[in-house]
Amino acid sequence: MLKDALLQRLSADNLDDAVRRKQEQFVGLLTEDAALRVLAYENGIPTPRLPVEFFPLSSAQAGSSLSCQVRVLAVFSPKRFQNAERSGRLCKLRVADATFAADLVLWNSDVDAASGIQRNDVLCLKDVFVKIQNPLELHSRLSSEFWVADATESAGANLPLSPVVPRRLAELREGEEADVFARVLDKQSLKEFRRQNKAGYLSKITLSDGATRLAAACWDENAHVAQSLQIGEAVKIEGAVLKNGEINVSWSGRLLPNPANHDLVEMQAAVPKTLAALDASDAPVEVRIDKVLDAQRQHKCRSCGAKSAEKKDVCACGSQDFFSLVYVSLEVSDASGPMRAVLFDAAATELLGAKNTTDLNLLSQLKRDYLVGKTVRLTAYAKESARTGQKELVGKAVLGWMV
Ligand SMILES: [Zn+2]
Repeated sequence: MLKDALLQRLSADNLDDAVRRKQEQFVGLLTEDAALRVLAYENGIPTPRLPVEFFPLSSAQAGSSLSCQVRVLAVFSPKRFQNAERSGRLCKLRVADATFAADLVLWNSDVDAASGIQRNDVLCLKDVFVKIQNPLELHSRLSSEFWVADATESAGANLPLSPVVPRRLAELREGEEADVFARVLDKQSLKEFRRQNKAGYLSKITLSDGATRLAAACWDENAHVAQSLQIGEAVKIEGAVLKNGEINVSWSGRLLPNPANHDLVEMQAAVPKTLAALDASDAPVEVRIDKVLDAQRQHKCRSCGAKSAEKKDVCACGSQDFFSLVYVSLEVSDASGPMRAVLFDAAATELLGAKNTTDLNLLSQLKRDYLVGKTVRLTAYAKESARTGQKELVGKAVLGWMV
């Protein structure tokens, strides 16, 4: 199999040479099979995993290693730690098989892999260290490997499932833990505070699943993740708890940006507002782009508000405090009529498919023919234009293109 895949890239002679060189490089320690695996890895060809024998959690012996297949009942928010000896990151998971439940602790670089693990996944663990037998605690170490089981190796049938279930935002009940899928409508800046002499963090975001809007308070590590979210981005919250009508994401929950299997179909099916009905609150709209009027990156003076296309060091008012502003203005329409529209910053560059450094005006001219006539789905609201007094659409996020 691997040989066939490699022969797609190399001639038979070249492959024989490459295998021989690899074996020489490892002074004869590599079998032909192992050399092929190394070559496949170097050529970006996926290598099938060698079979692993799994044992039940009940067979774990403190101080030894274990390979097992478990259900992920919960992944807790990753933590940073710093003490006299060392600093780093750790992430705790609650896992179980048919015989036992255990805490699994992932360390440092393994913590990144946890972002690919979701509740109720079947996780294969190879060579994890049994730190404590009762209550059972497993730790990842250098030689450990773990991966989410695919359909062929999934022996999940006899593994218990987490009692926490996915819910729509409207179905959340006060105090109950649930998983939710939503898009980010808005976010506030990060707040830092002191709590028992430790720094605490809070970030508030507004979420929508198409039918319902809810505020979410994201604490500590989750606050930092919330700050990295883009307006319009899909997010899964595992372990969301509704408190006083607001979602809380604390240490027992976590935010997963762009989850692999996000269930946004219903959101996409949410009925968009017509331009005529659009008001000051955020709503999905579907509009046809009739004209691309202008796109600019501007530098705006923070004290007097003067704008310029060129980056200046000092404003006419004497201030040296500028911020950069990106916008694209359009004429759009739907069945209810036409409207002027403007998108700023991330939404504007997303619409144009622009990178940070691009000449936006030039790009918008080049893309004009491509964009005009296309229908785009946006999160938007309407406001009265200061210049014309007309109702104008402000697009906050590009949700997708209609075909
Ligand atoms: Zn100025």
